[in-house]
Amino acid sequence: MKTMNNILPTKEGYFGNYGGQYLPEKLKFEYSKIADAFLKMKDDKSFNDELNDLLVHYAGRPSPIYYAKNLSLKYGAEIYLKREDLNHTGAHKINHSLGEALLAKKLGKTKLIAETGAGQHGVAIATAATIMGLDCDIYMGEIDIAKERPNVDRMNLLGANIISVNKGTKTLKEAVDASFKAYSEEYEHAMYAIGSVVGPHPFPMIVEHFQSVIGREAREQILNMCGQLPNYVVACVGGGSNSIGIFNGFLNDSDVRLIGVEPLGKGEKLGDNAASINYGCEGVLHGFKSLFLQDADGNIANAYSVASGLDYPGVGPKHAYLNSIKRAEYVTVDDREAVNAFYKLSKIEGIIPALESSHALAYALRLSKQVANDTKILVNISGRGDKDINFVTQMYGQ
Ligand SMILES: *Cc1c(COP(=O)(O)O)cnc(C)c1O
Repeated sequence: MKTMNNILPTKEGYFGNYGGQYLPEKLKFEYSKIADAFLKMKDDKSFNDELNDLLVHYAGRPSPIYYAKNLSLKYGAEIYLKREDLNHTGAHKINHSLGEALLAKKLGKTKLIAETGAGQHGVAIATAATIMGLDCDIYMGEIDIAKERPNVDRMNLLGANIISVNKGTKTLKEAVDASFKAYSEEYEHAMYAIGSVVGPHPFPMIVEHFQSVIGREAREQILNMCGQLPNYVVACVGGGSNSIGIFNGFLNDSDVRLIGVEPLGKGEKLGDNAASINYGCEGVLHGFKSLFLQDADGNIANAYSVASGLDYPGVGPKHAYLNSIKRAEYVTVDDREAVNAFYKLSKIEGIIPALESSHALAYALRLSKQVANDTKILVNISGRGDKDINFVTQMYGQ
């Protein structure tokens, strides 16, 4: 039997009904060149040795699994944390950023182009570009530049070229358009480095591959630690890269329940959340087909979550597929429950999680109260919360 760990998209980039490559003609050839190169590189020993060396000695992998015994005692199940927050730059994003940068270099490119909203993806890509000796153009809305000063300073320090976008809402949406436009003019020497398992084929496949290191490590670590697999694996879902990365380690273990946690924000109303699997419907945006939040006329809605890394109005095509075949389940957690989990982990375990990761943790805490005491719940802590401390303590106190 073909193992599910190896689920790859079709040649056209489809996972079931989702994915594909909705691109201007002139870019299709370039994307298929990237796909061919990637499929060769992913099994190439010298590519993997070089990437692995960076993951270990530069990014700090493997990240440990920590048994959160204080939380477990208090909430009633065994809670294990995969510590992606301990990676260099503070989140899982460094995993695919290093992979994409190395791929770009092997393709002979001299520049990475990316857009960023809150700046997390921008910082990870700027870091990877620096270590790989590539130029780096980061497109960012004027409003986000003003709001996210620490990450802007970081990117500047890393030598990235930040391009301010002042069209429309002056935020992420316009930054995506601007960076794609720039890329379509510069693709001969540049690569557009996508920040999650979204976008046109082959990028969902590429980012997934580089994030799968999380699940590979986690499966082995939890087996060593507990002598058995977890009952649940829980991760937050924005575009879906940290969750697909950890899910992939367990896709073939049908007894392990995979739970993706979407942000319910302020509530169920369109515009108040970013839960694209729970409240979205089929559509095409940013070069791929998936589930998107949209109104009755098919206009894409604004996404909202207290965790800015989760406020994307769509989701990676493989999640839409895993949902359709019921291999993974997708639940929601609202702002308030996520912020509560942020405080709980900080105060009970001394770990300050990113607000994004707090969504996954919040669901694990909810679940813990409903299951037997020996139930093992593995939670992906996708990033650390330093970036969120100011905001959370100003809004909600110490
Ligand atoms: C960007 C980000 C996310 C959301 O992205 P995914 O592609 O859904 O993983 C989650 N957690 C952290 C810490 C992030 O920075």
